[in-house]
Amino acid sequence: MKIGETTCRGIMNRSGIEGVDYAINPYIGCGHGCVYCYARFMTRWYHQGERWGSFVDVKKNASECLRREAPKKKVGTVLFSSVTDPYQPAERKFKVTRSLLEILRDYRFPVQILTKSSLVKRDLDVISEIEEAEVGLTITSWSDDVRRVFEPGASPTQDRIEALRLFSDAGIPTYAFLGPLLPYVSEEDIGSLVDRLADTVGRVIVDRLNIKAGNWRDIQTVLEDNYPELLDRFREASREESPYYDGLRGKMRLMLAKREIPSDIIF
Ligand code: SF4
Repeated sequence: MKIGETTCRGIMNRSGIEGVDYAINPYIGCGHGCVYCYARFMTRWYHQGERWGSFVDVKKNASECLRREAPKKKVGTVLFSSVTDPYQPAERKFKVTRSLLEILRDYRFPVQILTKSSLVKRDLDVISEIEEAEVGLTITSWSDDVRRVFEPGASPTQDRIEALRLFSDAGIPTYAFLGPLLPYVSEEDIGSLVDRLADTVGRVIVDRLNIKAGNWRDIQTVLEDNYPELLDRFREASREESPYYDGLRGKMRLMLAKREIPSDIIF
């Protein structure tokens, strides 16, 4: 992993994501290196030609920027993050996300966190002090074998569920982002995952895989190496108007309704 430093001119970016006013990305790149990651389009501008997941740049003046911006911006919900993971391994050392949360707490901005790392547990103290905070953990499969193949740098699935449990027990709203659900591989034991989430999270969001931002080449390589028998069916299921996802949508809807989990299926 190549770790570098960079500076930014601003850190709070207006966001088009529903329910979110601003997005903050404390890093460029992401050490979780998810095979399907859509944020790899960033390599058009940064680290051209380098493998997504092999570099991260720390925005070393991020808190300085936020101290300048926060008092001037209209208070609104801030998402961590949209094109990086705020709790990727570099955060353990650099604590950029933590320092930004402290500033947002002071300026009373609502915060929404989305991560694949149990490192978020470290910041329970700061997050508890934010007036409106919601903590989300992305989970794409119950099986940690799938996690190892598709999300090699991220926390094991069970650790993410424990993180959700910690925040729920502390009275902080939580959600699980089940996405992107990968054709066939994510479906294995998905019922066990939903059972586990039923009394752990406040809500669930479900999304499908989209082949975009140049992610197919890496997905194909990983399938050839690990699930060769699935390659053709996986490719077919990933098409835009895919009957596979129509079926999965129905299944997920039933499963979540049966367990009475508030949910939003966004495909
Ligand atoms: S954690 Fe998110 S930003 Fe990081 S590689 Fe995975 S999908 Fe991309």
